[in-house]
Amino acid sequence: MIYLDYQATTSVAPEVADAMRPWAEERYANPHSPSRAGREAAAAIEMARKEVDKLLGLKGGHIAFTGSATEAINGALKGTVEKARRAGSKRNKLITIATEHAAVLDSCEWLEENGSEVVVLPVERDGRVDLDRLEQVLDNRTLLVAAMLVNNEIGVLQPVAEVAQMARAAGALMLCDAVQAYGRMEVPRGPDLVAISAHKIHGPKGIGALWMRKSAEPAPLIHGGGQEAGLRSGTLSPALCVGFGAAAKLACERVTRDYDHVQKLWLAASHALGVGWTVNGSVHHRYPGNLNIRREGLDGARLIADLRDIAFSLGSACASGSGRPSHVLKAIGLDYREARSSIRLGFGRYTTQKELVEACERIAAAAYAQEKLDA
Ligand code: PLP
Repeated sequence: MIYLDYQATTSVAPEVADAMRPWAEERYANPHSPSRAGREAAAAIEMARKEVDKLLGLKGGHIAFTGSATEAINGALKGTVEKARRAGSKRNKLITIATEHAAVLDSCEWLEENGSEVVVLPVERDGRVDLDRLEQVLDNRTLLVAAMLVNNEIGVLQPVAEVAQMARAAGALMLCDAVQAYGRMEVPRGPDLVAISAHKIHGPKGIGALWMRKSAEPAPLIHGGGQEAGLRSGTLSPALCVGFGAAAKLACERVTRDYDHVQKLWLAASHALGVGWTVNGSVHHRYPGNLNIRREGLDGARLIADLRDIAFSLGSACASGSGRPSHVLKAIGLDYREARSSIRLGFGRYTTQKELVEACERIAAAAYAQEKLDA
């Protein structure tokens, strides 16, 4: 199989699997227990936390491990609203963007049903938010602005540093979903809360983290043993934390090399696909490991069925699973036919140029065959 679905998930790096193995097998002590084995597990978790934090590279805050980035985002949004409510704050407005991940949009919708005011900003045709529109809706009732750095479907970058600066000037907090950027490119300074996930950087599934600026910590939503400084109770998994740490350490060592590699792959893929394809979203403001393209008349779902040994996607993994048209493609102004004719190729560290070119040539040939058949 040629794997071109790096936005959905990534393989576990061999170094990560090696680091996790002892903690999944014989080193099973509870990291919150005072026994010697427990303290050793706790120490391994703290080492991992340092690596995860170092790769993020932000100052003045700390990391709490969560079960996923989805959990980190839910906790950041709902916990911030809860904290403001308890403090009797008049700030009750959340601002976000139409192309955010469902973890953000659905949490905002839930919060709206429960009394928050929510503003969802549209994006331009290139997938970027218009900062003038943001300026218009930011006010002294705004509690938080949520903006992702790299879009999971179209790879477009939002101006996160500017959004964070504007939010701060209005006295609001800023949450950045950095899941698709973390370990692949630099995360700008400015956000108060940052959600990340291990399985997008060749770490294990089932673990994410929330970085919180000091004093921007949300109220806890999960109560119990008081782990993670009371923010997120529940026994941590040393194997998952150590795996996340090992993946972060590896990414820290390789981030520039990986990015250069991905840039070369983008050029090779674009060349191998040939003419007749249009890139969805900005070509300039994007992460190059995401090639979301469309072709007049193409049936993307049929293409995926025709090329079963190439793993690629229609929109985001969740959007394709549900059969719903992608809210991101819709937000950038694509109609149903254009969205249906869009595919997403995602590549990264372990993709070779040879396999990518082979896949792109086969995709181009299958698309051409479809055209002939339908003509
Ligand atoms: N945000 C973005 C941009 C994502 O791509 C994903 C995963 O697809 C998530 C959030 C959710 O991450 P997790 O799978 O860790 O819950």
